[in-house]
Amino acid sequence: MRVIKTVEKLQSEIKTLQKQGKTIGFVPTLGALHEGHMSLIRLSKKSSDVTLASIFVNPTQFNQASDLKKYPRTYKKDADLLKKEGCDILFYPSTEEVYPKGLKTEVAIDFGHLDKVLEGAFRSGHFEGVAQVVKRLLDITTPDHLYMGQKDFQQTAIIAHLIEHFKLSTKLIICPIIREKHGLAMSSRNERLKPSQRKKAAILYETLLYANRLKNRKSYKYIEEKALARIEAAGFKPEYFKIINGKNLRAASAKTKYVVACLAVWVDDVRLIDNKILKRDLS
Ligand code: AMP
Repeated sequence: MRVIKTVEKLQSEIKTLQKQGKTIGFVPTLGALHEGHMSLIRLSKKSSDVTLASIFVNPTQFNQASDLKKYPRTYKKDADLLKKEGCDILFYPSTEEVYPKGLKTEVAIDFGHLDKVLEGAFRSGHFEGVAQVVKRLLDITTPDHLYMGQKDFQQTAIIAHLIEHFKLSTKLIICPIIREKHGLAMSSRNERLKPSQRKKAAILYETLLYANRLKNRKSYKYIEEKALARIEAAGFKPEYFKIINGKNLRAASAKTKYVVACLAVWVDDVRLIDNKILKRDLS
């Protein structure tokens, strides 16, 4: 695996590979890698000639300075994992490389409803930062495929919109959520949970399964209320539990064909998100 730290070197490498007719699969990450990230690398290796991962803790997407500071940085371990998995190139830039002085990188597009709800309602400025970094990384890497996890469901909707808006030729591939043994969605933030909390946090996935069991028998509003109560009864602080239309992120109705349950919950000072597709009728 080649580790490249500058935009210039990376672009020159990518140009050479593209001239050879190789397709590039790109997996952007914030580091602190786990099996969830590795599943994206594996999918990229299956369907792209060259797999490129990036590790960049993007300061513009953290709405709280303390969260940015606390974000785990485990470069050596991450690089070893990527190498073991057969990742071809790791892009590991400094903040100055990604955001050089004088270059306008903000993405001034209207996401409509997409960035106003769920995470957008609680993490002001978060998706502006996500759109900014992903657009910049896509401009640098011009990949054929971009692999992102369904774990960050709203993020995939934002990036799909961004790709469409700028008519980029990159294809977004949304990859399934990888979970721990008891069902908790893997996340770099899980490392900050005490072992007892980590086990108890299985209630989040259990609640998504509960919603899935009730979806044809009870109203979505009823399920949302019961789900919030379940999470609270387990001693956690839910921020939201919403059943939404997976296309436009508006509240789902009985007629909605693509229905997703999304949640955000505080476990002490650790904020976790998860989701489950309840219905996806493509007809
Ligand atoms: P992050 O480093 O948290 O920004 O995540 C990088 C990518 O990995 C994003 O596209 C995430 O959605 C994805 N990802 C994170 N956790 C998981 C998981 N448990 N299963 C699948 N993909 C994940």
